[in-house]
Amino acid sequence: MTQRFQARTSEVGGIPVARNLPTRGRRQIGAWCFLDHIGPVHFGADDAGLRVGPHPHIGLQTFTWMIEGELLHRDSLGTEQRIRPGEVNLMTAGHGISHTEESVFGDRDLHAAQLWIALPEAERHTESRFDHYANLPCWQDQGATWTLLTGHYRDKSADTLQFSPLVGLDIDCAEAQEIELDLNPGFEYGLLTLTGGVDINGDPFLTDELAYLGEGLSSATLTCQPGTRLLLVGGEPLGRDVVMWWNYVGYDKAEIVEAELDWEAHSPRFGSIPEWPGERLQGPASPWRR
Ligand code: MN
Repeated sequence: MTQRFQARTSEVGGIPVARNLPTRGRRQIGAWCFLDHIGPVHFGADDAGLRVGPHPHIGLQTFTWMIEGELLHRDSLGTEQRIRPGEVNLMTAGHGISHTEESVFGDRDLHAAQLWIALPEAERHTESRFDHYANLPCWQDQGATWTLLTGHYRDKSADTLQFSPLVGLDIDCAEAQEIELDLNPGFEYGLLTLTGGVDINGDPFLTDELAYLGEGLSSATLTCQPGTRLLLVGGEPLGRDVVMWWNYVGYDKAEIVEAELDWEAHSPRFGSIPEWPGERLQGPASPWRR
Protein backbone atom coordinates (compact mmCIF):
# COMPACT_ATOMS: atom_id res chain seq x y z
CA MET A 1 0.00 0.00 0.00
CA THR A 2 1.52 3.31 -1.09
CA GLN A 3 1.65 5.96 1.65
CA ARG A 4 1.33 9.65 0.87
CA PHE A 5 3.34 12.42 2.58
CA GLN A 6 2.93 16.14 1.93
CA ALA A 7 6.03 18.33 1.90
CA ARG A 8 6.21 21.14 4.43
CA THR A 9 7.66 24.51 3.51
CA SER A 10 10.97 25.29 5.15
CA GLU A 11 13.80 27.71 4.38
CA VAL A 12 17.42 27.17 3.37
CA GLY A 13 19.90 29.94 2.70
CA GLY A 14 17.18 32.56 2.23
CA ILE A 15 14.89 30.66 -0.13
CA PRO A 16 11.82 28.49 0.48
CA VAL A 17 12.21 24.74 0.05
CA ALA A 18 9.80 21.79 0.17
CA ARG A 19 10.99 19.47 2.96
CA ASN A 20 9.94 15.88 2.33
CA LEU A 21 12.10 13.97 4.83
CA PRO A 22 12.01 13.55 7.75
CA THR A 23 8.25 13.82 7.96
CA ARG A 24 5.61 12.74 10.47
CA GLY A 25 5.35 8.96 10.10
CA ARG A 26 8.45 8.48 7.95
CA ARG A 27 11.97 9.29 9.15
CA GLN A 28 14.13 7.39 6.67
CA ILE A 29 14.02 5.56 3.34
CA GLY A 30 16.99 3.19 3.38
CA ALA A 31 19.80 5.41 4.67
CA TRP A 32 18.25 8.51 3.02
CA CYS A 33 17.24 10.60 6.04
CA PHE A 34 16.66 14.12 4.70
CA LEU A 35 15.14 15.35 1.45
CA ASP A 36 14.69 18.98 0.44
CA HIS A 37 13.29 19.95 -2.95
CA ILE A 38 14.65 23.39 -3.90
CA GLY A 39 12.73 25.37 -6.54
CA PRO A 40 12.22 25.57 -9.40
CA VAL A 41 12.78 29.25 -8.60
CA HIS A 42 13.79 32.23 -10.71
CA PHE A 43 15.88 34.91 -8.99
CA GLY A 44 15.34 38.58 -9.85
CA ALA A 45 18.20 40.93 -10.71
CA ASP A 46 18.49 42.22 -7.11
CA ASP A 47 18.08 38.82 -5.52
CA ALA A 48 21.03 37.32 -3.64
CA GLY A 49 19.91 33.78 -4.48
CA LEU A 50 20.80 30.97 -2.12
CA ARG A 51 23.49 31.66 0.48
CA VAL A 52 24.22 29.20 3.27
CA GLY A 53 27.04 30.26 5.59
CA PRO A 54 29.59 27.98 7.31
CA HIS A 55 27.90 25.16 9.20
CA PRO A 56 29.01 21.76 10.47
CA HIS A 57 27.94 18.19 9.72
CA ILE A 58 28.67 14.80 11.30
CA GLY A 59 27.59 11.22 10.61
CA LEU A 60 26.15 11.76 7.13
CA GLN A 61 26.78 12.43 3.46
CA THR A 62 25.21 15.51 1.87
CA PHE A 63 24.01 14.71 -1.64
CA THR A 64 23.09 17.47 -4.11
CA TRP A 65 21.38 16.73 -7.44
CA MET A 66 21.34 19.79 -9.71
CA ILE A 67 18.54 20.10 -12.26
CA GLU A 68 18.74 23.81 -13.21
CA GLY A 69 21.19 26.56 -12.22
CA GLU A 70 24.52 26.43 -10.39
CA LEU A 71 25.80 26.44 -6.84
CA LEU A 72 29.30 26.86 -5.48
CA HIS A 73 30.31 24.51 -2.67
CA ARG A 74 33.26 25.25 -0.36
CA ASP A 75 34.35 23.14 2.56
CA SER A 76 36.90 22.90 5.36
CA LEU A 77 38.99 20.40 3.36
CA GLY A 78 39.74 23.27 0.97
CA THR A 79 37.36 22.01 -1.72
CA GLU A 80 35.84 24.62 -4.04
CA GLN A 81 33.46 22.99 -6.51
CA ARG A 82 30.75 24.34 -8.78
CA ILE A 83 27.84 22.04 -9.46
CA ARG A 84 25.97 22.32 -12.77
CA PRO A 85 22.82 20.69 -14.18
CA GLY A 86 23.13 16.91 -14.47
CA GLU A 87 25.78 16.67 -11.74
CA VAL A 88 25.95 15.35 -8.18
CA ASN A 89 28.00 16.74 -5.29
CA LEU A 90 28.61 14.31 -2.44
CA MET A 91 30.23 15.42 0.80
CA THR A 92 31.05 12.72 3.33
CA ALA A 93 31.08 14.37 6.74
CA GLY A 94 32.22 11.46 8.90
CA HIS A 95 33.65 12.74 12.20
CA GLY A 96 33.26 16.40 11.21
CA ILE A 97 33.39 18.91 8.37
CA SER A 98 31.99 22.36 7.64
CA HIS A 99 30.88 23.91 4.37
CA THR A 100 29.13 26.78 2.57
CA GLU A 101 26.86 26.93 -0.46
CA GLU A 102 25.97 29.88 -2.63
CA SER A 103 24.26 30.69 -5.92
CA VAL A 104 26.54 31.29 -8.89
CA PHE A 105 24.93 33.59 -11.37
CA GLY A 106 24.78 33.59 -15.07
CA ASP A 107 21.75 31.46 -15.03
CA ARG A 108 19.20 32.89 -12.56
CA ASP A 109 17.14 29.73 -12.19
CA LEU A 110 17.62 27.13 -9.50
CA HIS A 111 16.10 23.67 -9.26
CA ALA A 112 17.77 20.98 -7.17
CA ALA A 113 17.28 18.22 -4.66
CA GLN A 114 19.39 18.10 -1.51
CA LEU A 115 19.48 14.91 0.47
CA TRP A 116 21.34 13.45 3.41
CA ILE A 117 22.46 9.86 3.69
CA ALA A 118 23.06 8.50 7.19
CA LEU A 119 26.43 6.74 7.49
CA PRO A 120 26.30 3.24 8.99
CA GLU A 121 27.07 3.20 12.70
CA ALA A 122 30.46 1.51 12.21
CA GLU A 123 31.52 4.17 9.69
CA ARG A 124 30.01 7.27 11.19
CA HIS A 125 33.47 8.63 12.09
CA THR A 126 34.99 7.87 8.68
CA GLU A 127 37.46 10.37 7.23
CA SER A 128 35.80 13.41 5.65
CA ARG A 129 35.94 13.69 1.88
CA PHE A 130 34.29 15.44 -1.05
CA ASP A 131 33.37 13.89 -4.40
CA HIS A 132 31.90 15.42 -7.56
CA TYR A 133 30.17 13.40 -10.29
CA ALA A 134 29.81 15.08 -13.69
CA ASN A 135 29.26 11.98 -15.85
CA LEU A 136 26.37 10.00 -14.45
CA PRO A 137 24.72 7.23 -16.49
CA CYS A 138 21.96 8.88 -18.56
CA TRP A 139 19.74 7.15 -21.11
CA GLN A 140 16.39 7.22 -22.93
CA ASP A 141 13.75 4.57 -22.30
CA GLN A 142 9.94 4.37 -22.38
CA GLY A 143 9.69 8.00 -23.58
CA ALA A 144 11.66 9.36 -20.58
CA THR A 145 15.20 10.52 -19.83
CA TRP A 146 16.68 8.51 -16.97
CA THR A 147 19.70 9.58 -14.90
CA LEU A 148 21.21 7.22 -12.36
CA LEU A 149 22.49 9.32 -9.45
CA THR A 150 23.78 6.51 -7.24
CA GLY A 151 23.70 2.71 -7.15
CA HIS A 152 22.51 0.30 -9.81
CA TYR A 153 19.47 0.15 -12.08
CA ARG A 154 19.01 -2.69 -14.58
CA ASP A 155 22.40 -2.92 -16.39
CA LYS A 156 23.54 0.58 -15.33
CA SER A 157 25.86 1.48 -12.44
CA ALA A 158 26.88 4.87 -11.06
CA ASP A 159 30.35 5.43 -9.54
CA THR A 160 28.87 7.46 -6.68
CA LEU A 161 30.49 6.49 -3.37
CA GLN A 162 28.20 4.48 -1.08
CA PHE A 163 28.50 3.23 2.49
CA SER A 164 25.25 1.20 2.34
CA PRO A 165 23.19 -0.22 -0.57
CA LEU A 166 21.18 2.66 -2.08
CA VAL A 167 19.68 3.83 -5.32
CA GLY A 168 18.83 7.32 -6.59
CA LEU A 169 17.21 7.80 -10.00
CA ASP A 170 15.85 10.87 -11.84
CA ILE A 171 13.09 10.17 -14.39
CA ASP A 172 12.18 13.09 -16.68
CA CYS A 173 9.09 12.67 -18.81
CA ALA A 174 8.27 15.45 -21.32
CA GLU A 175 5.12 13.81 -22.74
CA ALA A 176 2.33 11.76 -21.16
CA GLN A 177 3.80 8.31 -20.72
CA GLU A 178 3.30 5.01 -18.95
CA ILE A 179 6.50 3.69 -17.35
CA GLU A 180 7.34 0.30 -15.90
CA LEU A 181 9.80 0.72 -13.01
CA ASP A 182 12.02 -2.20 -11.90
CA LEU A 183 12.43 -2.45 -8.13
CA ASN A 184 14.61 -4.52 -5.79
CA PRO A 185 12.42 -6.40 -3.26
CA GLY A 186 15.19 -6.02 -0.64
CA PHE A 187 14.96 -2.22 -0.78
CA GLU A 188 12.34 0.20 0.49
CA TYR A 189 11.48 3.06 -1.89
CA GLY A 190 10.17 6.59 -1.99
CA LEU A 191 9.12 8.45 -5.13
CA LEU A 192 9.00 12.25 -5.04
CA THR A 193 7.17 14.19 -7.76
CA LEU A 194 9.47 17.15 -8.56
CA THR A 195 7.23 18.57 -11.31
CA GLY A 196 3.97 17.48 -12.90
CA GLY A 197 1.96 14.57 -11.61
CA VAL A 198 1.99 10.78 -11.68
CA ASP A 199 -0.30 7.84 -10.99
CA ILE A 200 1.56 5.14 -9.08
CA ASN A 201 -0.18 1.78 -9.50
CA GLY A 202 -3.35 3.86 -10.04
CA ASP A 203 -2.95 6.33 -7.10
CA PRO A 204 -2.50 9.98 -8.20
CA PHE A 205 0.41 12.03 -6.76
CA LEU A 206 1.02 15.74 -7.30
CA THR A 207 4.15 17.92 -7.19
CA ASP A 208 5.92 17.74 -3.82
CA GLU A 209 3.97 14.72 -2.66
CA LEU A 210 6.24 11.90 -1.50
CA ALA A 211 4.98 8.39 -2.17
CA TYR A 212 6.41 5.74 0.17
CA LEU A 213 6.22 2.44 -1.70
CA GLY A 214 7.55 0.27 1.13
CA GLU A 215 9.65 -2.85 0.54
CA GLY A 216 9.18 -6.25 -1.09
CA LEU A 217 8.18 -4.87 -4.51
CA SER A 218 9.76 -5.94 -7.80
CA SER A 219 8.03 -3.37 -10.02
CA ALA A 220 5.69 -0.39 -10.14
CA THR A 221 3.62 1.11 -12.95
CA LEU A 222 3.80 4.89 -13.35
CA THR A 223 1.48 6.94 -15.53
CA CYS A 224 3.14 10.33 -15.98
CA GLN A 225 1.43 13.56 -17.01
CA PRO A 226 3.30 15.72 -19.55
CA GLY A 227 6.19 17.62 -17.91
CA THR A 228 6.64 15.19 -15.02
CA ARG A 229 9.97 14.80 -13.26
CA LEU A 230 10.39 12.16 -10.58
CA LEU A 231 13.08 11.35 -8.02
CA LEU A 232 13.24 7.73 -6.89
CA VAL A 233 15.21 7.01 -3.71
CA GLY A 234 15.61 3.57 -2.22
CA GLY A 235 17.83 1.41 -0.11
CA GLU A 236 18.09 -1.40 2.40
CA PRO A 237 16.13 -0.41 5.50
CA LEU A 238 18.55 0.75 8.23
CA GLY A 239 16.56 -1.16 10.84
CA ARG A 240 16.73 1.63 13.39
CA ASP A 241 16.10 5.36 13.59
CA VAL A 242 19.08 7.66 13.54
CA VAL A 243 19.21 10.67 15.87
CA MET A 244 19.02 13.98 14.01
CA TRP A 245 19.45 17.51 15.32
CA TRP A 246 20.17 20.58 13.18
CA ASN A 247 22.96 19.46 10.82
CA TYR A 248 24.04 16.43 12.82
CA VAL A 249 23.19 12.75 12.38
CA GLY A 250 24.22 10.18 14.97
CA TYR A 251 23.30 7.03 16.79
CA ASP A 252 22.99 8.50 20.26
CA LYS A 253 22.18 11.86 21.80
CA ALA A 254 25.57 12.21 23.53
CA GLU A 255 27.46 12.34 20.24
CA ILE A 256 25.12 15.06 18.97
CA VAL A 257 25.73 17.13 22.12
CA GLU A 258 29.49 16.63 21.76
CA ALA A 259 29.31 17.92 18.17
CA GLU A 260 27.29 20.98 19.26
CA LEU A 261 29.85 21.86 21.93
CA ASP A 262 32.77 21.30 19.53
CA TRP A 263 31.23 23.62 16.93
CA GLU A 264 30.57 26.34 19.51
CA ALA A 265 34.16 26.01 20.76
CA HIS A 266 35.55 26.41 17.21
CA SER A 267 37.14 22.96 17.52
CA PRO A 268 39.54 22.00 14.69
CA ARG A 269 37.25 19.00 14.22
CA PHE A 270 35.13 21.15 11.88
CA GLY A 271 37.89 23.27 10.29
CA SER A 272 36.95 26.59 8.72
CA ILE A 273 36.09 28.31 5.42
CA PRO A 274 38.52 31.24 5.33
CA GLU A 275 37.10 32.76 2.11
CA TRP A 276 33.62 33.26 3.56
CA PRO A 277 32.94 36.92 4.42
CA GLY A 278 30.01 36.39 6.82
CA GLU A 279 29.20 34.72 10.12
CA ARG A 280 29.24 31.03 10.96
CA LEU A 281 25.77 29.58 11.48
CA GLN A 282 24.69 28.56 14.97
CA GLY A 283 22.07 25.89 15.45
CA PRO A 284 19.40 25.80 18.11
CA ALA A 285 20.59 24.08 21.31
CA SER A 286 19.43 20.45 21.44
CA PRO A 287 17.10 19.45 24.28
CA TRP A 288 19.68 16.87 25.41
CA ARG A 289 22.14 19.43 26.78
CA ARG A 290 22.34 19.97 30.50
MN1 MN B 1 25.06 21.49 4.77
